[in-house]
Amino acid sequence: MLTVRFAPSPTGYLHVGGARTALFNWLLAQKHGGKFILRIEDTDRERSKEEYTRQILEDIKWLGLVPFEGPFFQTQRLERYREVAFDLLNKGLAYRCFCSPEKLEEERKRAYKAGKAFKYPGYCANLSEEEIKKRIENGEKFAIRIRMPKNEDLSFEDKVRGKINFSSSEFDDFVILKSDGMPTYNFAVVIDDHDMKVNLVVRGEDHITNTAKQIAIYKILGWEIPEFAHIPLILGPDKKRLSKRHGARAVGEWRREGILPEAMMNFLALLGWSWDDKQQIFTQEELVEKFSLERVSKNPAVFDVDKLIWINSEHLKKKADEEKAELVIPFLVEAGLVESEESIDRAWLIEVIKIVGDRLKKLTDIVAYADFLFKEDEDIIYTSEDAKKAIKGDGVVEVVEEINKVLKELDKWDRTEIEKVIRDKASEHNLGASKPIRAIRYAISAKFVTPGLFESMELLGKIRTINRINKFLEFVKANK
Ligand code: GLU
Repeated sequence: MLTVRFAPSPTGYLHVGGARTALFNWLLAQKHGGKFILRIEDTDRERSKEEYTRQILEDIKWLGLVPFEGPFFQTQRLERYREVAFDLLNKGLAYRCFCSPEKLEEERKRAYKAGKAFKYPGYCANLSEEEIKKRIENGEKFAIRIRMPKNEDLSFEDKVRGKINFSSSEFDDFVILKSDGMPTYNFAVVIDDHDMKVNLVVRGEDHITNTAKQIAIYKILGWEIPEFAHIPLILGPDKKRLSKRHGARAVGEWRREGILPEAMMNFLALLGWSWDDKQQIFTQEELVEKFSLERVSKNPAVFDVDKLIWINSEHLKKKADEEKAELVIPFLVEAGLVESEESIDRAWLIEVIKIVGDRLKKLTDIVAYADFLFKEDEDIIYTSEDAKKAIKGDGVVEVVEEINKVLKELDKWDRTEIEKVIRDKASEHNLGASKPIRAIRYAISAKFVTPGLFESMELLGKIRTINRINKFLEFVKANK
């Protein structure tokens, strides 16, 4: 049975890179009826935080990547790592190292300055039994290092990148268990992947060298080696390492920004994988059906925020207005525009969704475009600079005043009637309708971009519309 895993370290929030690794693994497990294991690699005591673990689990769940098993926590398996490390020690396949970290750090720096990579020269590789005993009795601390064989072939066949060559001579006797009893990453991963029967490891290309070190450990332990697939790096549009500058954010931030989980999944899938050069929009079911490592590229993937927004808007377009209405409610509550999910008039909200239409590219756009429909009149705040822009042109204020008078008398408050009043008045004054439209748009919303004005006025209702136009006209007079 195919067994894959996602093994994040909780030293930060879940970002696109990690989320993509999780997704690729999950897709493979779904497709082949395999197992997807979630493992939290929390042995870095200083940098790991519970807050990060909580968020990672939440984001994974939000994406819909339900683990078959787990989450497992490495800190709950420390005994097991120690057991294997001491077993290697007893067999002479590993040894105690008493060198002080400070001394080694010194040497590392010196090597670095000389432009060389530091390799542990094996100071403690051949200490006598008596010496070891004496030093332990003296209370000296020790780490455990693996005895790296010489000239052993550590090459492997990568399922994305093909043959990758390594020789054990490239590596030193690295630490597998630190003096505080914590395993190092490369050691714990091997034991976990073995114990959890992981037979395919899919992870970022930045782990290629680690893979060779891990293969060395598998060989020393005599354990079966899983298959490996290294997925490409993710770069910004400028082909530089992905960073905040490129709009890269934690998955949780995208969720709060109003990206749909299915759109995020679609977007992540395309970071290094493609189906053909046409199809860009995929449902979860299609991804499960179509995904394969054969179609994962060796070339770096490019992260493009605009593409994410576009994919999101395409997924939104497929939804019925009723569903969109339900989806935007938490965002309206979050923005303080409605009190609670229950207090909102669903039928009216669906009308709002209709007039916002395809402007809704992410769920927070409801706030950006339609906040004024939810606000109280006193919360519509004008600025004198914008107000001036809004009434630019001769006679605009007078026309708006007249329009307001006619609107007050209007019996049937609907978009067609409202539009007629505005257009008729504008042409009576030989004015393009766009001028009073701009002024009234600003008057009711304190914005220059909104959904269609007449529809907005209809949904805002007669009383609130007229109140706001009055309020605006007073503002204009007071700021002359
Ligand atoms: N904890 C490692 C990381 O977050 C996992 C790498 C792996 O998949 O083995 O980079």
